[in-house]
Amino acid sequence: MPPAELRQWFAEHGWPGYRARQLFEAQRKYAASGEARITTWSAELCNQVFEELDWSWWQELQHWRDPEDATEKWVVTLRDGQRMQMVMIPDRDRRTLCVSSQVGCAMGCTFCSTGEMRLQRNLTGGEILGQILLVDRLLRDRGDRGLTNLVFMGMGEPLHNEYAVRTALDWIISTDGLGWSPDRVTISTVGIAAPLRRLIRESRVNLAISLHAARPDVRAGIVPAERGLPADELRALLLDEIRALRNRKLTFEVVLLAGINDSEDDARELIRYVSGLNAMVNLIPFNPWPGGRYSRPARPAVERFQRLLQDASISCFIRRTRGRNILAACGTLNTTEHAVPVDLVELSERS
Ligand code: SF4
Repeated sequence: MPPAELRQWFAEHGWPGYRARQLFEAQRKYAASGEARITTWSAELCNQVFEELDWSWWQELQHWRDPEDATEKWVVTLRDGQRMQMVMIPDRDRRTLCVSSQVGCAMGCTFCSTGEMRLQRNLTGGEILGQILLVDRLLRDRGDRGLTNLVFMGMGEPLHNEYAVRTALDWIISTDGLGWSPDRVTISTVGIAAPLRRLIRESRVNLAISLHAARPDVRAGIVPAERGLPADELRALLLDEIRALRNRKLTFEVVLLAGINDSEDDARELIRYVSGLNAMVNLIPFNPWPGGRYSRPARPAVERFQRLLQDASISCFIRRTRGRNILAACGTLNTTEHAVPVDLVELSERS
């Protein structure tokens, strides 16, 4: 439940609201132990809280580290046996967690292994927040710095699980919770109109729009959500909210698929699309996964695409692939059995 509701819960049970903050701090401290412990509370309070509120949210963790770039992936078995993944990307003094919002995903983007799983279930607000508290604690317990940034780019479409994602966001940003600045958080979405508008108006987080192609026919072939909110309506929505988007980062994500959306025409359409939106473009060369039907464009083709955008004065970056040896790279997250080939397990450190 969100911070205000938890305070209310304590009030309704005859306890002061500040107990909510204490409970959060204890969750944060013992996130990796899965054990409910608040030694300063009376037995009566502990019994009431731990009988009525869920504390633990996972039953098993499997861990991999990419020997090439130190990206880490955890496969988490949830209490009902469903499995989801979270990925931590270290980069100099940054520790970014790629957070999941669902097990699988209903959006079915054809280049994405998570989409192939279809939606298994939504994660709860607690399971989303729990990922952040857990990885932050695991890092700190080994003497590393804690998490510095969050990107909701793991499994699932965050705006398809709006209430739970907004609940977790409340805890991340509220001073009752982590008290982070919203500019450390990026929500990635294919674009679902009503929750997107609410997110823009009611929060100050950064936005990453999974566009992947500006040409409607091309986008419809790889992002089925184009049929729900077509790219031109998505652009109109963003233009409409341009004032609310001021002073925060707006990025368009484009997974480049060889021979599908990487032509000069595609680049020109993208330039037209992005112009006037004060946004950057991230190019993500396709990351292959078992059973994936696309191939990655050659590096010169990706650079040519980038140059066309840069020549039109658009900030355009090529995303460095991280975690490819452990199937942790963008678009490769999947928790069905084929998701972690045996040779990858042998290759990586397993804890
Ligand atoms: S790219 Fe994102 S929205 Fe599309 S299927 Fe994968 S997880 Fe879902």
